[in-house]
Amino acid sequence: RGKKAFIAGVADDQGFGWAIAKALAEAGAEISLGVWVPALNIFESSYRRGKFDASRKLSNGGLMEFAKVYPMDAVYDTPEEVPEDVSSNKRYAAAAGLGFTVSEVAKNVEADFGKIDILVHSLANGPEVTKPLLETSRKGYLAALSASAYSYVSMLQRFGPIMNPGGAAISLTYLASEKIIPGYGGGMSSAKAALESDTRVLAYEAGRKFQVRVNTISAGPLGSRAAKAIGFIDDMIRYSYANAPIQKELEAREVGNAAAFLLSPLASAVTGSTVYVDNGLNAMGLAPD
Ligand code: NAD
Repeated sequence: RGKKAFIAGVADDQGFGWAIAKALAEAGAEISLGVWVPALNIFESSYRRGKFDASRKLSNGGLMEFAKVYPMDAVYDTPEEVPEDVSSNKRYAAAAGLGFTVSEVAKNVEADFGKIDILVHSLANGPEVTKPLLETSRKGYLAALSASAYSYVSMLQRFGPIMNPGGAAISLTYLASEKIIPGYGGGMSSAKAALESDTRVLAYEAGRKFQVRVNTISAGPLGSRAAKAIGFIDDMIRYSYANAPIQKELEAREVGNAAAFLLSPLASAVTGSTVYVDNGLNAMGLAPD
């Protein structure tokens, strides 16, 4: 039986979510996506116009297909919590019929596919990411934590009950959680620290409750859309190339492959882990150059 996967946080073919989808598709999984509501139109029209066709190519010659694409906003758990200014927004109003909150998406996925095996959280958002922590507002800080850390808790809460025992979840984190990375601001470093700590606690709780494994990948720098919004991604890629043990650019595909391993029975005893997929940069104590 092919495994069923739900991936939240894909809106183009440039990021880690897409690469994870690709690696899972290569392994024979059936994949559905949760796409951020404001990004859904452009994602679907680009998809229809064939903009992603080259990146959809599988090694067997076929094209990666998605079983279903759901509108989603991971900062809302139930429709009652959606504020008026959001629900009246044109794009959100269009998605409201189907339901874009985490609980509604989980219900819809269950109605369409029954139980799933794989849950992927590949999303983050920090409205004040370009501001130093010392200049971050309470609102910006809490928004970063809500979108980038609590969203994983919420997804496990709502999707855990519809996961088969033996299933697994993964998220993406960044070294700024544990080491100072100037420029990764707005509480995003705090959000990643929470995400990694939560990965341990959730591994225990979801392990006992659902027999589901919970891990996170600490990825090296990639020029995704989200990363470009931070502003210093080219410098980070250069820094990593110059200073990491393995001197090459990180490909999204490498993170996709590591995720496919962690989400597969090959990793059946791996849970609660932060796994570095960063050409080894995290292990350096001093820049050699
Ligand atoms: P990306 O832009 O491809 O992915 C981020 C996605 O999050 C986007 O598709 C966006 O639409 C979605 N999103 C934002 N807010 C959302 C919300 N409220 N609800 C649902 N979806 C929402 O960029 P990426 O770099 O591949 O990011 C994926 C993950 O990888 C993030 O957790 C990011 O922090 C992490 N990461 C990235 C890097 C890097 O250098 N790019 C390094 C380490 C970790």
